[in-house]
Amino acid sequence: MKYFSTRGGEQLLSFEETVLTGLAPDGGLYIPEYIPKLPANWQEDWKEYSFQDLSVAVLSLYISPEELTLDALRTLVTKSYSTFRHPDITPLHKLGDKTYILELFHGPTFAFKDVALQLLGNLFEFFLLRRNAKKSAGEAPEKLTVVGATSGDTGSAAIYGLRNKANISIYILHPKGRVSPIQEAQMTTVTDANVHNVAVKGTFDDCQDIVKSLFADKAFNSKHRLGAINSINWARILAQTVYYFLAYFHARRHLPPSSDLQFVVPTGNFGDILAGYYAKKMGLLMGKLVVATNENDILARFWKSGRYEKVESVSGEGAAAPANGASDGKQAVGGVKETLSPAMDILVSSNFERLLWYLAHGDAPSQSRQATCQTLKGWMDKVKSDGRVEVPTRVLALAREDFLAERISDVQTLDTIRDHYNGSPSYIADPHTAVGLCAARIVATHNSASTVQIVLSTAHPAKFSEAVTRALADVSGFNFERNVLPEEFRGLLTKQRRVIDVERPEVELVKEVIERYEGEARGSATASV
Ligand SMILES: *Cc1c(COP(=O)(O)O)cnc(C)c1O
Repeated sequence: MKYFSTRGGEQLLSFEETVLTGLAPDGGLYIPEYIPKLPANWQEDWKEYSFQDLSVAVLSLYISPEELTLDALRTLVTKSYSTFRHPDITPLHKLGDKTYILELFHGPTFAFKDVALQLLGNLFEFFLLRRNAKKSAGEAPEKLTVVGATSGDTGSAAIYGLRNKANISIYILHPKGRVSPIQEAQMTTVTDANVHNVAVKGTFDDCQDIVKSLFADKAFNSKHRLGAINSINWARILAQTVYYFLAYFHARRHLPPSSDLQFVVPTGNFGDILAGYYAKKMGLLMGKLVVATNENDILARFWKSGRYEKVESVSGEGAAAPANGASDGKQAVGGVKETLSPAMDILVSSNFERLLWYLAHGDAPSQSRQATCQTLKGWMDKVKSDGRVEVPTRVLALAREDFLAERISDVQTLDTIRDHYNGSPSYIADPHTAVGLCAARIVATHNSASTVQIVLSTAHPAKFSEAVTRALADVSGFNFERNVLPEEFRGLLTKQRRVIDVERPEVELVKEVIERYEGEARGSATASV
């Protein structure tokens, strides 16, 4: 299996090159040459498989055995999911006869990104070690310096994915004092030597600008071989397809054979739900996937109008609706609206480009791959220059064959958390999961009697205490510490921390930090030879 860029189509990369490269040089995202079909007896053969068995079965369809043998893949998968707290890795939790929750938050940082980042870290390490083993004595080893900015959520999953990995250092910039205490503690209490938390006096945007400047600095970039681990990395999508299969088999054990499964996915950068699309196209039996957005609703608007448009959200109803009491103190920052589900606060949705490629292809299936890439590139260029693109009606019709979409407000999010807490069985949802639960309820009014919904739960409620506390503060008997906070978080706030302070949001100061620590790492590596 080889991979190509959505905006190119000529050059083919191996899986290893695809994973190590991340974003294609032409600005496109890598996708596989074709979407593999499931083996003939998958329903029978895979039904008792564990999460790890399913990982090996599904991932091996996308990775040539010459690149990664089944045994090597199994070793990486086993290691990656040994850090999870639940034996099913992503357990299915029954909420009602027609509703299940697929809990994706049992990894080390209590959020769904662990599912992909635990594997990605091990893949990076494996490929680098293999490359370095082939080098002759005296040749410098290949190293990767991962640099990223976080407003709290992604940073900790990335840090836990890369901690203690050979040949990899990670620098995560966060705005000092502006991430939640739990998230700050999650990041800074990781004291492995290759992990560097950089607290910048400034805003999240300052941190992001610094990271962008570092990547744009050719000399610095090639000296340190900077790597990114954002959600466009193909391995992250691939790793996430697995839980759709696990949910399918686990749900089947309890349901009549005639029932239809409908996955509902809270969505920001379209990575989580895109994995479901791949599973569907491989042949996993499911109904339409439901896209659930918060008030940053570029995706929900696309499914209504066929326009993929980033401008509207600036002056959109979110910003103009003072009646929305839950939005007090929230404001539009550069067009992104701050909501109670911050991990889905996006202006454009990076992985959506991959779906657009398949829609362009579906609209003209006899066209060459390159011609489809040109169509897609035309659309993306328009988004860049005009802030919007409108796809042909036929393309929108194709998108509607596989997806439904709903936009959920902060008020609805809070109401949903409260409803499910008071429900039977009682369930405490984090605000992202609540966006999914609310969308599920809305689309259910049009579902057939045989449809069963599986809502993907992307975070533990303790990670987003603000929304959960706000929703449940007045409910008698509710106590955040007792009802929500897991044991692991209690000890966290008092554990030893390691942070590098940067006094001003200046790229030169961050460069100095990286030079200093990478110099030390090189020094100690030579010393120990
Ligand atoms: C990243 C994240 C999401 C959004 O996932 P996408 O793949 O970007 O759609 C939703 N919820 C939580 C808690 C997240 O961390």
